[in-house]
Amino acid sequence: MPATPVPTRDSDPRAVRREPMPPARGQREVLATALPIGGGLLALALLAQWGGGLPGFGLPGQGGLAAWILFAVAVTLCLLHRPFDGSTLGVAAVVLPAALLEQGGVGAALAAAVASLAADSIRRRLRRHSPFVGPERRRIVRSLETAGTLTLAILAGALAGALVRNVSEVERLAVAGAVYVLVLAGLRLLDKKLRRPFRAIPWAASLLPLATDGLAWAAGVAVAVVAARVGWTIAAVLLAAFALLALETGRNALRHGMSEQRVSDLERLSRASRRIAGDGRERGLVSVAERIRIECSNVLHFQWFQFELLARDATYQSWWAGPDRRLHEGRPEPPPSPPPLPGIHRRSHWQRVERSLETEDQLIGRLTLWCDPRQLEADSLDHLDSLMPQMVASLQRALLDREAKVDPLTGLALRRVLEERLDRAYRRSVQEGTPMAVVMCDLDHFKKINDTYGHATGDQALSATAALLAAETGDDHLAARYGGEEFTLLLEEADGDEALALAERIRAAVEALDVVVDGQRIPLTLSLGVAVFPQLHVKRPQELVELADEALYEAKGHGRNRALLHLGRGRFRTAAGGTVSGQGDSKPVEPPHIFA
Ligand code: GH3
Ligand code: MG
Ligand code: MG
Repeated sequence: MPATPVPTRDSDPRAVRREPMPPARGQREVLATALPIGGGLLALALLAQWGGGLPGFGLPGQGGLAAWILFAVAVTLCLLHRPFDGSTLGVAAVVLPAALLEQGGVGAALAAAVASLAADSIRRRLRRHSPFVGPERRRIVRSLETAGTLTLAILAGALAGALVRNVSEVERLAVAGAVYVLVLAGLRLLDKKLRRPFRAIPWAASLLPLATDGLAWAAGVAVAVVAARVGWTIAAVLLAAFALLALETGRNALRHGMSEQRVSDLERLSRASRRIAGDGRERGLVSVAERIRIECSNVLHFQWFQFELLARDATYQSWWAGPDRRLHEGRPEPPPSPPPLPGIHRRSHWQRVERSLETEDQLIGRLTLWCDPRQLEADSLDHLDSLMPQMVASLQRALLDREAKVDPLTGLALRRVLEERLDRAYRRSVQEGTPMAVVMCDLDHFKKINDTYGHATGDQALSATAALLAAETGDDHLAARYGGEEFTLLLEEADGDEALALAERIRAAVEALDVVVDGQRIPLTLSLGVAVFPQLHVKRPQELVELADEALYEAKGHGRNRALLHLGRGRFRTAAGGTVSGQGDSKPVEPPHIFA
């Protein structure tokens, strides 16, 4: 496993922000969860046990189980629509005063808690979940928190109502309503402060739900008054009307929410696709792998990532990223199972999400994600799948791009890349007055090697030589396959002495190369010709290649396995420092005009 990550341009901070947040943890978070759930349960238990003596408190069943169920159903229906995202009850508060009157505090609280859980679960089923929300486990805890908050607020309201003496029923309900709304608002504020301690909470956002709950409660009191004055039949009709109204509003709100969700998902996916496609400049394979990693992390929670290049005509390559999200070359070594999740003791095994990247006729890559199934959303897999075509297209383009630049046998740059680089290097050299060198290399008697040991062995020798050239020239210079068994080196900012020294080093290294086939060492030698600008004043960079070729030709003529530096006017310098003259029968090339 290499320790150094592959450098990419895309490691921008925005990418980190776009990744789904793991569930926030800490004492505050635990408190924010424990307070409503634990508090609600405790208050229910205490008041059920000891609140019986208070007016307005009683156990479910006091007003009849059927009535209790009726209230729970009515609250559930009303709860399906929660206006101003955050109002805990909204229209459902209409039902509560009547429930309080009929059922007592404990009955009303229980009905609301059950209704809240039922409504949340119905909403969850109705709504197509976006992958950009937290995992399932969190949502269940959230539902419990909401139910607990409601229970606490209703019990507080009922208790306050029960404690005021010598007032009419309507006044009692008004007091209960005021306390209910205030406790609800207080609990919601506390929850926000505990979860986001440093974020200012906009007033409008806290006041609107408060006002809705207050108004809904007032409407509920009106229903209760009707019940007291006119009778429950009319009140029940009114309640049913409210419930139906709320249901219809809720249905519309849900539909609206769902289509908004769908549009926003589509927009997100199309933006993700555009990001995977890149801006046209970042076409390298590493860059494609990194972009795929970032976009996968936007739709899916995974811990380990692997992206493999499997194209038949490309060498196998693999990149991986672990929890630190940095891309490395090689294969990942994830631990045998996912790390434990805070607060969850159930052990889990990895769920490996594997996807093949296939064009019409071939497999070009594979994506593997190691996910913790407890954090995986079913819909995220759909979203991942919708990104696949773009991943395939980007990878395919990167491969085509590479194909046009890299020689498949040796992995060296192709001649057209050399020509481009040569032009650029020459312009730079002329502008900045720095020297540049071209070294032409040709394996000696290569035909004989092919004839003696076979073409496959010849290929092996070519690859070994190419690997050596690439290693010797390093990242600053370019080693290209010029064609057949000929290679070209482009050395920027290298003068004659440096270039000749490098050529000589390469010559010796090739001579020492151990290419062994069937236990037999293949003798390999290389001849090299060096030409340097501006020592040789050329007007076109291609002329420098021709002069280097001329030096190579001389090297062959002087017995091969040697490096010669072109000095101009038919003279050449050997690596040992001697000067040799052209043999006269060299290729007819214009004699170079020499500087100084
Ligand atoms: P010299 O020392 O004069 O360069 O002799 P040479 O035999 O190396 O030169 P020549 O140009 O006569 O032969 C080059 C040989 O290289 C001929 C060709 O079959 C072989 N060759 C070219 N490309 C490849 C290749 O990709 N694989 C293999 N195995 N051989 C190749
Ligand atoms: Mg040749
Ligand atoms: Mg040759």
